[in-house]
Amino acid sequence: MTERLYLLDSMTAAFDATVTACEPKGDGYLVELDRSAFFPNKGGQPCDVGTIGDANVTDVNEQGDRLLHTVDRALPVGAAVHCALDFARRFDIMQQHTGEHLLSYCAWHLFGAQNVGFHCALTYATLDLDKPVSHEGITAIEDLANRLAAENAAVTATIYETEADLAGIPLRKHAEGLTAPIRIVTIEGSDACTCCAPHVRRTGEIGQLKIVEALPYKGGMRCTFLCGMRALAHAQTMQDTVSAIALRFSTSRDQAETAVAKQAQELSDTKRALRQAHAALDEYLAKALAAEAEDVKGAKLIVRSLESVDPKRLRGLASATMQGKALTVLFSDTGERVSYLLASNGIKADMGTLIAAVNTALSGSGGGRGTLAQGSAKKAAGFLETVESLKTYFRTVLQHEK
Ligand SMILES: [Zn+2]
Repeated sequence: MTERLYLLDSMTAAFDATVTACEPKGDGYLVELDRSAFFPNKGGQPCDVGTIGDANVTDVNEQGDRLLHTVDRALPVGAAVHCALDFARRFDIMQQHTGEHLLSYCAWHLFGAQNVGFHCALTYATLDLDKPVSHEGITAIEDLANRLAAENAAVTATIYETEADLAGIPLRKHAEGLTAPIRIVTIEGSDACTCCAPHVRRTGEIGQLKIVEALPYKGGMRCTFLCGMRALAHAQTMQDTVSAIALRFSTSRDQAETAVAKQAQELSDTKRALRQAHAALDEYLAKALAAEAEDVKGAKLIVRSLESVDPKRLRGLASATMQGKALTVLFSDTGERVSYLLASNGIKADMGTLIAAVNTALSGSGGGRGTLAQGSAKKAAGFLETVESLKTYFRTVLQHEK
């Protein structure tokens, strides 16, 4: 069985070992060593990677008592090998993991909230709490965790051979189903819990702890957090983002939110004023359309293309022309596309049937039924001529109504 070097010394970045097994697996090989500092995928966090001799370690997993290193080339059994971890990756994960211990302790100490889940990815980590915590509460957890980190308390791992040896140790969390020997990780002066993973040696090595999101999750909270260089990178990105917003508004960073709120209000006021202006304009436009309506056997026919009119305005415009027997077909030409709307009053033809002719003529799509139909198409060359020929068609429809 492999001696697990990471259990008692988390800072082993390189070590010598002997290959005890090597078997092909997929495109690579599974290698076992007599001793290893490679931590496997376990406890919600990713494994170490690195090298064994001249082979690259891309994955590490446990299979029962076995510690299997996935490598990209075969290694002779019995060979003495020098092994090296990607220690920047290992240290970053240890910062997040130890940060999780500290944040969990603070949530428990301040609010009695238990950590019920942990996941560490290569760019972020989450911890789940079993009860809701307010925004102010999350800030309090963050503040206390950072104060405890600054105290630079020792983080130690101790292995207890029997359950009886554990009696009297005030554990925050005792993972269920564990059998002795049990490994307890203690943060001097505050936390103690069962854990199998490597940790930094002192809380100061965690660096800054920042909860960047806390959302309701399964009756409790899911907190996304960043420690060490991840927290610094986040602060740098946030600073750049807020600076870019402030620059756009020619103001300082602390005035950026006020400037955005002011512009949002101005935009809302402008939209309202524009709606009012469109309503006044549409009243005038509807009268102009009604004035040019063609009388076809007692029905008013209007077929018109309108430039730069928002398609949403077509319905109001058409309905303003619906007095007596009427058929109004309006096109909105916004450059690249055309939208169209057919409305009728007191005539037999169904708009769902008539729109089919428009769809065919413009290679568009649309539908409707009864007295209303609408559709749209990509604008093609000869659009206005097509509108004219459609007008001829609608005139014929009205002439043949009985
Ligand atoms: Zn741990």
